[in-house]
Amino acid sequence: MQYYNENTILYLNGEFVKASEAKTDFYSQSLHYGYAVFEGIRSYRNVNGETIIFKEVEHYERLKNSALLMNMPFPFSTEELIEATYELLDANNLQDAYIRPVIYAPANMSFAQNTTSYIMIAVWEMSPFLGEKLLRVMTSSFQRPNPKGFKIEAKASGHYVNSLLASHEAKANGYDEALLTDMNDNVAEGPGANVFFEKDGKLITPSTGNILPGITRATVMEICNELNIPVEEKLFTTNEMKDSDAAFFCGTAAEVIGWHSLDDVPFKKPWSESLGKIVQEAYKNVVVNPVTRSVVNKYEGMIVE
Ligand code: PMP
Repeated sequence: MQYYNENTILYLNGEFVKASEAKTDFYSQSLHYGYAVFEGIRSYRNVNGETIIFKEVEHYERLKNSALLMNMPFPFSTEELIEATYELLDANNLQDAYIRPVIYAPANMSFAQNTTSYIMIAVWEMSPFLGEKLLRVMTSSFQRPNPKGFKIEAKASGHYVNSLLASHEAKANGYDEALLTDMNDNVAEGPGANVFFEKDGKLITPSTGNILPGITRATVMEICNELNIPVEEKLFTTNEMKDSDAAFFCGTAAEVIGWHSLDDVPFKKPWSESLGKIVQEAYKNVVVNPVTRSVVNKYEGMIVE
């Protein structure tokens, strides 16, 4: 996968610069200690041919919350970051793209808090709707980080070492992806996606507390609400999942992607007849149907509410 070439433009601390010429600091606390926060966002070419960043306010608000939870200064506004992102997509001639903002720390080898943060935003092409193939998922031997040791609801770079270990293990064992449990052996989430399963006409997903509460998870719940599909948030084990009708992951990059099996136990329903399939189709519609690019108004609308 090539993320950039000699023409690619990055947003770096208020400026648009060539990715191949941009510099970072090898003494950054982020590189040494995993002390950074980031977002994963997508833009889509909508039905009118315009570029629309999906749930841009929610993603940039989560970036701010992640930074504040990690005691990182965050002197950026959601509005300015959204505007910069649209400019960056234009500069790179991208419509269906993945957007990766990172907030990182200055040079600091001590554990002292910083008074400055830096921001980089990268964008690269990503086709929508990658997830047609059903996943063979393995219960990971790794658990998600203990929420008493980490701010688990923050999207912090260091947390992703856990995700990498789980994903590596699953792939080394011939599976497509991992499912991680929490410290009490309840199902938590995938390395980079939330999870739902279907049982007796209802969708069930882990309660918040031990997971990253995903923006796609919230969108799935909105879709279910509109389609009158019942959803329950609760704690459950992998055994309960294995005795269910169907399951899927959801996340910004993964979108909605069905499962074939968990630990080689296939789900009872064909994916094409599952509630997940209905949600998947609705999600495909939702991401390309949002209105127009009325970002500033939308954001101002949020402030006055
Ligand atoms: N859990 C984890 C650990 C993730 O990395 C992601 C991807 N950001 C998600 C869940 C899904 O979150 P979202 O729907 O906001 O992309």
